[in-house]
Amino acid sequence: MFYAIIRSGDVTELSKFKPNISSQSEGSTKLKIAIIGFGNFGQFLAKAIVRHGHQVLAYSRSDYSHVAEEMGASYFNSVDDLFEQHPEVILLCTSILSTEKVLKSLPVQRLKRNTLFVDVLSVKEFPRNLFLQHLSHDFDILCTHPMFGPESGKNGWNGLAFVYDKVRIGTDESRTSRCDRFLDIFSGEGCRMVEMSCAEHDWHAAGSQFITHTTGRFLEKLKLEATPIDTKGYETLLSLVENTAGDSFDLYYGLFLYNANAMEQLERFDLAFESLKKRLFDRMHGFYRQQVFKHEENLHNVTERRMLPKGSEEK
Ligand code: NAP
Repeated sequence: MFYAIIRSGDVTELSKFKPNISSQSEGSTKLKIAIIGFGNFGQFLAKAIVRHGHQVLAYSRSDYSHVAEEMGASYFNSVDDLFEQHPEVILLCTSILSTEKVLKSLPVQRLKRNTLFVDVLSVKEFPRNLFLQHLSHDFDILCTHPMFGPESGKNGWNGLAFVYDKVRIGTDESRTSRCDRFLDIFSGEGCRMVEMSCAEHDWHAAGSQFITHTTGRFLEKLKLEATPIDTKGYETLLSLVENTAGDSFDLYYGLFLYNANAMEQLERFDLAFESLKKRLFDRMHGFYRQQVFKHEENLHNVTERRMLPKGSEEK
């Protein structure tokens, strides 16, 4: 039996998000954005943020000063020094698994009190709850998930989904406008802006993103290779492997561990595979059973004929 997946009542609210065309001067619309976690995805986002003219200050566990310099970002080896620059936005790009530890270690007392905290974790309820638990009421909170990565977004972000939830944004103009200016980076790149609650995101993502990563990793284990006679379908499988292979196992484990709906999806995956195998084997057994019965029937007829008195066969 499969689990019945009923997604009724799921209302995906496509926001009428419009790029913020502000009357402010060019200089004041630009943000000072601190990226915490400057790995694969942090660097990927930083390039676009710099391209939009914002100032990027980066910090990570490893030293990425050369990478930062190449893209026009400033790199800090100390998060204290970075926070003393008073960035307006703190963009958390750490692995899902390390986020709690990293967040707790940040010297938030060095920041201006209403700084905007943003995350890009591929799960959403977890960072939302962490932010609400660890950040004082003065800080603004925006939870986001760009539904693409360095591989799927390498040719631009036009039409790719960007999910966000304005968890806590102060009502005064400077704070709403700062949040909008941050979102403008993504709408300006042509992303499909989707405003959705973190809980709703996790429900959808387990049924789509986690299944995609699981399938990609499953196929990777088969070590598939291109052949001279690839079909379109097979090419799609190869590109799925390519799409997911670049992501760290930490990311995949985070999708599993920190999305309450992932376990159910993994079980469905398992059940679906078993059910397919069962259907194949049932049909094959049915066929062989028929063959065996036919054979036994023939044997039975031959034995019966042998047991008949001589000459009776002709009658
Ligand atoms: P990841 O493996 O999920 O995270 C790598 C980042 O986490 C690096 O900056 C790394 O710092 C940091 N990190 C890992 N362990 C740490 C620890 N114990 N202490 C401090 N920092 C630690 O790979 P990713 O692809 O770069 O993803 C980053 C975030 O973006 C994740 O939350 C992910 O869910 C999200 N995201 C990723 C994609 C994607 O396609 N890759 C798409 C959307 C959202 P160092 O490099 O300095 O070690």
